[in-house]
Amino acid sequence: MSNQAERHATAETGRRLRENSRPDLDFTPVRNGMDYLISAVTNLKNDGAAPPSDRDLKYAVLHLQAATEVLLKARLVHVHWSLVFKDPGNASRKAYENGKFESCNITATMDRLTKIAQVAIDDKDRAAIKDLADTRNALTHFGHTANAFAVEAKASQVLGFLLTFIHRHLVPVLAEESKDIEQTMATLRAQYRDITAFVTQRMKDLASSLDPLAESTVECPDCFQWALPIREDTPATCHFCLAQWEIPQDVAQEYGLLIRGEDDFRGLRDCPCCGEPYCVGVVNTVQSKETDVALCFGCGDVFYERRVRDLHNEGMTG
Ligand SMILES: [Zn+2]
Ligand SMILES: [Zn+2]
Repeated sequence: MSNQAERHATAETGRRLRENSRPDLDFTPVRNGMDYLISAVTNLKNDGAAPPSDRDLKYAVLHLQAATEVLLKARLVHVHWSLVFKDPGNASRKAYENGKFESCNITATMDRLTKIAQVAIDDKDRAAIKDLADTRNALTHFGHTANAFAVEAKASQVLGFLLTFIHRHLVPVLAEESKDIEQTMATLRAQYRDITAFVTQRMKDLASSLDPLAESTVECPDCFQWALPIREDTPATCHFCLAQWEIPQDVAQEYGLLIRGEDDFRGLRDCPCCGEPYCVGVVNTVQSKETDVALCFGCGDVFYERRVRDLHNEGMTG
């Protein structure tokens, strides 16, 4: 088991399942997950002008991560209880009921939801959930202002995903008497609007500095905001979360992995402009959100249409 909360949730599930074998999803782990979610939202909520403190953000991350894990696994249990085992082939009912087993990690949980339960999770949500899990594990090093912005933006991404997930995939399979969860959801949605308002306001404040750089501004792999302009002769710096990359190759690769969701990123090409191998063939910028362009993460030059095709072809043959 990866944490105490989950162990508790699973033990509760086991107890309830012994006395109730209806196919409806048992409510106990869901209620447990909702408790974590309410706590996370309370910690993230931006009352008045003061942003959440480092301590607020720490508990927001811990509890949001716990909520994500418990709620996603609750949906897997609805398909079959053995699916939350790290190795379902070795699952036993007794171990499940006692809560004494090694459960699957968050990546495996998402894979199984997609492949077995037909729950679609898009690349951006997947990356944010994975990243939140990593952040929780790295919390002992937490406390940096730059991180606080990124954490808040990413947490609101995961929160947005969870609210949709609960509505679409959990509530429909809950037992009838548990539908009062919708009431909690209404409150959470209202609070979610306050949280995203912080992100929106900060992006608005940054507009005057970011607007002139729209042609080469991409989504930041750290905070997922469209706030990372790529320019020649300056380390790439996100205006929203202040993350900085000294080496163009690093930011290009993180972009490929986290924004394009390519697990094995090999997309770097020689730039037709500066000749350095920092060009990514499939990029979206603020100015070109719908149409792919090629962008050099070294010199910031953007290449449209024919050049993108050439870069693709080079990639396929060489
Ligand atoms: Zn950023
Ligand atoms: Zn270049």
